[in-house]
Amino acid sequence: MTKIYNFCSGPAMMPTEVMTKAQQEFTNWRELGVSVMEISHRSADYVAMAEEAEQDLRDLLMIPDHYKVLFCHGGGRGQFSAVPMNILGDQKLASYVTTGHWSRCALDEGKKYASADVFDALLKDDEGNVSVRPVSQWRYSHDSAYLHYCPNETIEGVAIHQIPDVDVPLVGDFSSTLLSTPLDVSKFGIIYAGAQKNIGPSGLTVVIVRDDLLGKSMQHTPSIFDYSIVAKHGSMFNTPPTYAWYLSGLVFKWLKEQGGLDAMAKRNSAKAALLYNYIDQSDFYRNQVDSDYRSKMNVPFFLADDELNATFLAEAGKSGLMTLKGHRIVGGMRASIYNAMPLEGVQALVDFMQDFEKRHG
Ligand code: PMP
Repeated sequence: MTKIYNFCSGPAMMPTEVMTKAQQEFTNWRELGVSVMEISHRSADYVAMAEEAEQDLRDLLMIPDHYKVLFCHGGGRGQFSAVPMNILGDQKLASYVTTGHWSRCALDEGKKYASADVFDALLKDDEGNVSVRPVSQWRYSHDSAYLHYCPNETIEGVAIHQIPDVDVPLVGDFSSTLLSTPLDVSKFGIIYAGAQKNIGPSGLTVVIVRDDLLGKSMQHTPSIFDYSIVAKHGSMFNTPPTYAWYLSGLVFKWLKEQGGLDAMAKRNSAKAALLYNYIDQSDFYRNQVDSDYRSKMNVPFFLADDELNATFLAEAGKSGLMTLKGHRIVGGMRASIYNAMPLEGVQALVDFMQDFEKRHG
């Protein structure tokens, strides 16, 4: 059978070793004779696993003790509302920096709760070349409750590699980049990420929140989205997404075995360089993001002739290269190359692109 490499932006490829381990213990977890998904989240075995997963995540990201780690429902979009509901407090104003689709979605949701001070940091010229204003030039209100931004725009393939230095709580939507590289958590008030890219399967959202931001929620905040309540109950105020939490725990162990986030960062840089270097030297393919702001997770690219898109996708599919179609907002192609994508997968894509260019260029 052809080896399949899945370039989906999310839900995305999981590490093979994790899937194999999950399969081995699928119906008989820890010799209990049942699946982990069939047992109570309050059972001693489950709680031990859940606590271990949290500790592994804390170790990987070196999360300081004065931050809570929450395992929530509701996805990235859930956090677009949970953030203002939890930390706006008595303030009316929140700052949003927009750099693409997902930061704009966060802004739209945030506007339901706060007056928004918006700074559009995306730069686009008439030819479609894309860049971002340096973080040192970002404007925001110093009296806003927080500044929200998205360090990796999954659709546009735009990344902000520098952490903004601001004097209000910084909130980052890390849905498509958490765990791909080390991160200085202490620079943030809140970090959140839907799990379905680098963490695990969909259904789980990881929230990392600084203790001083707890206890300010709006009166009508649903309890399941209230960070203080979720934290007080160890993320078990209501039934958590138990299987997704378990699988994510396996991913955290896998990441540790790989050498942690330093090792992942090196591997991810090598993968991204392989693909971008190939695209840049070719006259047939192009990526239009300024090299300083290119995502190492999501690589959009265009063919010289859009008419060839369908043929490219069909032939790629036959070669085992799955889900390369670009998002409809951007068009063209997009290769998502999260932690679980091995270098061989990116090499297989580059080999295919080279061959396709020879035949159609
Ligand atoms: N933020 C980013 C950066 C994303 O990539 C996505 C989903 N692709 C979301 C938010 C929305 O996440 P969810 O579908 O889990 O609500």
